[in-house]
Amino acid sequence: MARLFGTDGVRGIVGEKLTPEMALKLGRAIGAYFGKGSRILVGRDIRSGGAMIKRSVISGLLAEGIKVYDADLIPTPGLQYNVKSLGFDGGVMITASHNPPEYNGIKVIAGDGVEIPHEDEEIIESYYFRNHASRLEWRSYVNDPLFRADVIENYVEAIVSQVDKEKIAKSGFKVIIDCANSVGSLVTPKVLSSLGVKYVSLNCNLDPLFPGREPEPSPITLKPAIALLREISADLIIGHDGDADRAIIGDDKGRILWGDRDGALLSAYVAEKHPELPRRVYTGVSSSIVVEDYLRPRGIEVVWTPVGSVTISRMIIRDGGAISGFEENGGYMHIPHQIVRDGAMKTALILEMLAEYNTKLSSLVDELPFYYTIKTKIPASREEALCAVEKTVEAFKQYRLVTIDGVKVIGDDFWLLVRPSGTEPVVRIMAEARTKEKVENIVSNARSIVEECKKRRGNSK
Ligand code: MG
Repeated sequence: MARLFGTDGVRGIVGEKLTPEMALKLGRAIGAYFGKGSRILVGRDIRSGGAMIKRSVISGLLAEGIKVYDADLIPTPGLQYNVKSLGFDGGVMITASHNPPEYNGIKVIAGDGVEIPHEDEEIIESYYFRNHASRLEWRSYVNDPLFRADVIENYVEAIVSQVDKEKIAKSGFKVIIDCANSVGSLVTPKVLSSLGVKYVSLNCNLDPLFPGREPEPSPITLKPAIALLREISADLIIGHDGDADRAIIGDDKGRILWGDRDGALLSAYVAEKHPELPRRVYTGVSSSIVVEDYLRPRGIEVVWTPVGSVTISRMIIRDGGAISGFEENGGYMHIPHQIVRDGAMKTALILEMLAEYNTKLSSLVDELPFYYTIKTKIPASREEALCAVEKTVEAFKQYRLVTIDGVKVIGDDFWLLVRPSGTEPVVRIMAEARTKEKVENIVSNARSIVEECKKRRGNSK
């Protein structure tokens, strides 16, 4: 069957794949999935085409007899929080997250605040490709979408209520917040003010052209933030992506951290703060074994998951909770708040952790085991990628292997991940080791396995 949804909702270039016509048809399909009379909350980030796509989606939903509530500009986790806490039947978020500015997208949220499972996306796709259009009686179309002006405030209050406001305020933190010109601007500065934290904002003005930086937070896009941190001796950098479900953190030395590092630190902290939570964390196989090194001695089990935040959320719900779920891309789920990634919540939690421990983030980071890292990708077809995974399993069979998404090899002083990408025709290779030579060796080993698979496939054609 033709696919519309990718690993994280429907994505495409606005005006090309993402047109009003397409969004109208998808709005109808989403409406049919939830069913006539359902109450759905719709929101968007600042991206170009957001207003246009949102109106088409709303029109499609109304055509299926849905009661539509309009949250308009809001971070994805803000929409998710309100869907769950206000008892909506579901939500639709117009966003392309961290993708380049020309992209937009549509994702569907279930009544529990988490993105709908992939099987349910297939139901929506089947309505879509059948050109589903209900014919309702004329009286079914009398409901106007209702604007909800309270959603941002609800969300900010919920985040602030999760942490010790007084303790954070007393610590006198100075923070640099980079909102990527999008909807993080509406929330994180407010959270920081409520917590009595002094901040300097970068790119916290809404602008669909993203003049400040690309929507993906990284050591490159956060360079101005790093320079500023050094200039004013700030304690922390927070960098959001386009829909602020992620926060990439920089420490007081200006080092930008991968989300598995601060995820491990936060999890150990939350484990102390919330003894009622089950002693386990969930993280994608692309996270470092630093996570295990750090959390195991603290009595916390690490559950490796396939890559993708929706999978992590659904596994945590299935298993009855956890201390946290997190990803190396900066996504962090604070379970007592909600079981989805939340960039502003992560920000508040980091500040509380630093206030509680009365320490600089850099000294916590320095406690983590140090590994040299290489992340790379090699163009390869799906078959070539699967061959590479299989051959890697063979070559490293004497080690501990995790094979839930590609293969992760875990040795005493290194780890290696070889996995087919879910979004592009490439094999992703990630490795870390205690020495530079070791990591280079491991990666060149993996590289030759991929090349061998490509040669073999080429010969057999
Ligand atoms: Mg995002």
